[in-house]
Amino acid sequence: MSATEDATARDAATPSARTALGVVYLVGAGPGDPGLLTVRARDLLDECDAIVDDALANPEIVAALASRRADEGRAGPERHFVGKRGGDGRSARQADINALLVRLAREGKRVVRLKGGDPFVFGRGSEEAQALAAAGVPFEVVPGVTAGIAAPAYAGIPVTHRAVATSVTFVTGHEDPSKESQQTDWGALARAGGTIVLYMGVKRLPAIAAALAAGGLPGTTPAAAVQWATYGKQRTVVATLETLAARAAAEGVEAPVITVIGPAVALREEIAWFDRRPLFGRRVIVTRARAQRGSLAARLRALGADVLEAPTTRLEPLDQAPLRAAVGRLGDYRWLVFTSQTAVALLWDALRAAGRDARALAGLRVCAVGPATSEALLGRGIAVDVAPRRFVAEGLLEALRERDDVRGARVLYATADGARDVLREGLAAIGARVDVVPAYRSVPEAEASAALRHAVERGEAQLATFTSASTVSGYVAALGPELARRLPAVSIGPITSDAARAAGIHVVGEAEESTMDGVVEAVIRWAGYGA
Ligand code: SAH
Repeated sequence: MSATEDATARDAATPSARTALGVVYLVGAGPGDPGLLTVRARDLLDECDAIVDDALANPEIVAALASRRADEGRAGPERHFVGKRGGDGRSARQADINALLVRLAREGKRVVRLKGGDPFVFGRGSEEAQALAAAGVPFEVVPGVTAGIAAPAYAGIPVTHRAVATSVTFVTGHEDPSKESQQTDWGALARAGGTIVLYMGVKRLPAIAAALAAGGLPGTTPAAAVQWATYGKQRTVVATLETLAARAAAEGVEAPVITVIGPAVALREEIAWFDRRPLFGRRVIVTRARAQRGSLAARLRALGADVLEAPTTRLEPLDQAPLRAAVGRLGDYRWLVFTSQTAVALLWDALRAAGRDARALAGLRVCAVGPATSEALLGRGIAVDVAPRRFVAEGLLEALRERDDVRGARVLYATADGARDVLREGLAAIGARVDVVPAYRSVPEAEASAALRHAVERGEAQLATFTSASTVSGYVAALGPELARRLPAVSIGPITSDAARAAGIHVVGEAEESTMDGVVEAVIRWAGYGA
């Protein structure tokens, strides 16, 4: 090692020097499912200044990161997409990518080079590492779950099994077996037995199968092609070494595909799991506002749905002066009413701004409409006094009507601008004096609209889900009235269903209980499972 190389290696080990110099992390993003990202990868994504990604790393990983940072009020990383673009359809050249990585690091940035699967498995990450080493740029490698492991696993194929496969070989199908100069000894692979996992090989599958057969691998050996592994749209075609190429072509299986060849493939029949989940193969649109994203989509995904997250609305805080003023005279109120977690969070911000905390609510009675809102209060040390059995405003009114401490009481109700008047009017009818303080509003989210329109136009989605009347109006605004009617929908409750029907949308399911779980159950019923 030369003196300068030695100094570079030492600098790379000290965090302060590294920040000054910039550093490139060659990070494996896993095969697609964002849940297969490593903890280290997520931490680095959270902290980095720049991301260089391409088509093989699931773009949702980067999108989720950007919205998480936005939620926390932090700037997102600068993004350099070097994969295939819609326009010219070409990827950036490897030399240009290498140069970009070196430049960003020299600007002092912490750069995540996000690669599909594992960075050193057929991903040219090793070439990027060589370029960085040559340029004296510090780098680290974060291994990822490679597609060759994940695709068989998600297809229910163990790459090894004590009884049927004692070895596994990962091989690129990029080389043409009919060429003299190739490095892969297909005959040796055929004789090795065990499991063969082929990357990038769909086009050359006929030639590769022929080469393996010529090497002595029986044509009847089980073989499978797994397309878009670990995504909601994963597709698996099972055949034999002899028939797989034709079968895959007939079914229109195109890259990205992992091909698995060997007796272990037969175990899929016994232990397939991913594509046997209740919502597998169903493409469902989730329209919740971005700040509330995650839970409904995550639950649907866990049941196998292919979820398109299209947050058509976004929550935006309004001028907080009225809420702060109300907090300044909390002593005047007897009741606090919350219908959303957002209102709870904003009220707490106002308390904190006034240098106060949960103790300021000691003399007040608190009620909340839904379980998530109650939960948000409990998380801040407040157990609600009244929570309705039915999670709608009418349910809360029923519960309050039965009490004798509401008439004549002053009520503070922090809510969304343009919220329904049911609570205000109902409370007034019981004899309460209500101050409605609009603290936030939901505004249309333009950016998600294009992807949504694309999916609906091309018939790529089968169901929309609505979790509030504002998600319905956001959806209709994004799609226009015609397209909006194209898909059936499941809604969170009667008010939302009415809003959807008013827009001409066919409501095929409604949550029995107005919660996210209720919506999930309604989606399962729609899919023909469950009770
Ligand atoms: N570094 C990556 C592989 C890059 S080569 C890894 O470790 O997974 C690109 C090839 O990987 C594709 O042609 C395909 O064969 C495979 N691949 C990557 N992601 C895949 C996915 N989600 N489903 C099926 N194959 C995938």
